Amino acid sequence: MTKLSYLHEPGVLQNLAARYELNEIYTYTGNILIAINPFQRLPHLYDTHMMEQYKGAGFGELSPHVFAVADVAYRAMINEGKSNSILVSGESGAGKTETTKMLMRYLAYLGGRSGIEGRTVEQQVLESNPVLEAFGNAKTVRNNNSSRFGKFVEIQFDKSGRISGAAIRTYLLERSRVCQVNSPERNYHCFYLLCAAPPEEIAKYKLENPKSFHYLNQSDCYELDGVDDADEYLATRRAMDIVGITEEEQDAIFRVVAAILHIGNIDFAKGEEIDSSVLKDEKSRFHLKMAAELLMCDAQGLEDALIKRVMVTPEEVITRTLDPGSAIVSRDGLAKTLYSRLFDWLVDKINVSIGQDPNSKSLIGVLDIYGFESFKCNSFEQFCINFTNEKLQQHFNQHVFKMEQEEYTKEEINWSYIEFVDNQDVLDLIEKKPGGIIALLDEACMFPKSTHETFAQKLYQTFTKNKRFIKPKLSRTNFTISHYAGEVTYQADQFLDKNKDYVVAEHQDLMNASKCSFVASLFPPLAVETSKASKFSSIGSRFKVQLQSLMETLSSTEPHYIRCVKPNNVLKPAIFENSNIIQQLRCGGVLEAIRISCAGYPTRRTFYEFLHRFSVLAPEYLEGNFDDKIACQKILDKMNLQGYQIGKNKVFLRAGQMAQLDAKRADV
Ligand code: ATP
Ligand code: MG
Repeated sequence: MTKLSYLHEPGVLQNLAARYELNEIYTYTGNILIAINPFQRLPHLYDTHMMEQYKGAGFGELSPHVFAVADVAYRAMINEGKSNSILVSGESGAGKTETTKMLMRYLAYLGGRSGIEGRTVEQQVLESNPVLEAFGNAKTVRNNNSSRFGKFVEIQFDKSGRISGAAIRTYLLERSRVCQVNSPERNYHCFYLLCAAPPEEIAKYKLENPKSFHYLNQSDCYELDGVDDADEYLATRRAMDIVGITEEEQDAIFRVVAAILHIGNIDFAKGEEIDSSVLKDEKSRFHLKMAAELLMCDAQGLEDALIKRVMVTPEEVITRTLDPGSAIVSRDGLAKTLYSRLFDWLVDKINVSIGQDPNSKSLIGVLDIYGFESFKCNSFEQFCINFTNEKLQQHFNQHVFKMEQEEYTKEEINWSYIEFVDNQDVLDLIEKKPGGIIALLDEACMFPKSTHETFAQKLYQTFTKNKRFIKPKLSRTNFTISHYAGEVTYQADQFLDKNKDYVVAEHQDLMNASKCSFVASLFPPLAVETSKASKFSSIGSRFKVQLQSLMETLSSTEPHYIRCVKPNNVLKPAIFENSNIIQQLRCGGVLEAIRISCAGYPTRRTFYEFLHRFSVLAPEYLEGNFDDKIACQKILDKMNLQGYQIGKNKVFLRAGQMAQLDAKRADV
């Protein structure tokens, strides 16, 4: 891309379009790899032959490819002993997860032990993908296999470059989906897989047609094109075997999944007393019994936990009943907690089973995390997702832009600064402590009388003068943030509920008492609380801490960027929607990066490195006992290069000049 003679948006777009038409889905712009989703299988692009080709090939020698990026990261790690990371970004359906899997496959190929049978570390790393996808992916409007969580996979290598361990960190699984789906979306894949299990297992888990379960039948979509849930069930079981989940554990996992479906079918009606509820009918009683059996807990206990609350005061113990609406909230809360704890358990188990290499000095991290989102309705989830993207954008900015400029400044070379938008102000607005939106949200959650309206009012008051914060006219609860990628209006309605991270004590006690040790282990006894403040935990703050730690990890690595692009919204091959794509390139900072790398000096070498490589072009200057800097200058003059610069310690070349010199060197 940086070789294009006229660099403007239409030029960039035309280049990408022409390449896409030839199924050249990858294009470099400087150090960023742009990957345009082909929406069709291109098997030859990823076969073993291809991997062999890219192994050890110089960067840029072969066509742009994810393998080339992984190869550079791997070589850099081996040669310099430095950790590397590959950050894959893009909007939903752009191809992040597929790209991540290709990267992992290639790294497993480079760092694997060929010829060893059975459960090798690299195989376990690869097979963690189908397991996590079965439990963390779902069909959405934007992607039939949308990841509903973020993921950072850290692959550890030993001294000889072999994979010796791995750690998977996940972020913010979408919990609401467990209880609520709309056409044409689906719930998490695992529910449908399990309903398509062999008959004896269906009987064991007391399952029926997915259409009979409330958590699934709110949407009329049950099947996925080209996917056989029965096959997927068996494949998931096999993958679970490989990552080291035992038969008994698998059985318990699917019991919990089935129990969640039954829990969803428990319905309530008004009881005789005011504000009380009872099981609605025989069907509800049946599902209650099934859920209790599967979770190995007491059925009456489950009923009570769903509809009663016990309050202990110094004087007495008061039992309060819930009205049917609150009972449903309680039921769904239990289902969501069960599911999210099950998911976390899977991640922990996979990490334990693959194992960490305490001696590993270098690693390659691969990040597959949700891209910027802006919908008609944006809630707490979009807020967290866009917060993530602001963080990553800042990291990107810092890396590509600041590092570049700082280097020029340090070397005291002439450089007219290219402006770039710094987003620290948005990050302050969101995460500053105290006073940022997350902090204000936590305060609102701790104060019993707050409502989403008082929360929104507080935001309006606090940020009246903030340039990144806008109060939409006429609205009393919406607020708009001016993100790096555009304005997004959030609806504050559910922010408080979604931010609260607590488990109802009755649910906790019941599950902890389960006769199934697996279920009980999902609800370990709570540590004794010391103060009220420590009891409160919020999703937003926890996420902020997780992100902070991710950013710390990333800053200690050499980053590589892959920007995935979704060429159209109909998910079909060969359709290239210009304005849609330009928008994505803007959001990903790709256009800015192209601008800077063309305007700047993409190649830089210390005088020593430069002379080492190019003194053959003018051996006379080596003998002449010149100062290194002057020797470099003389070689460059002799070669008739224009526009380069010489700094205090380094030579800075324009795009393409290194290749020119290399060509001349080859002629010598
Ligand atoms: P989300 O944010 O929703 O998880 P994503 O960016 O991870 O989205 P993917 O699931 O990786 O998107 O890709 C969506 C679909 O696009 C895939 O299921 C696959 O059909 C197709 N796809 C993506 N990349 C490729 C590729 N390199 N080759 C063939 N098909 C691809
Ligand atoms: Mg994905």
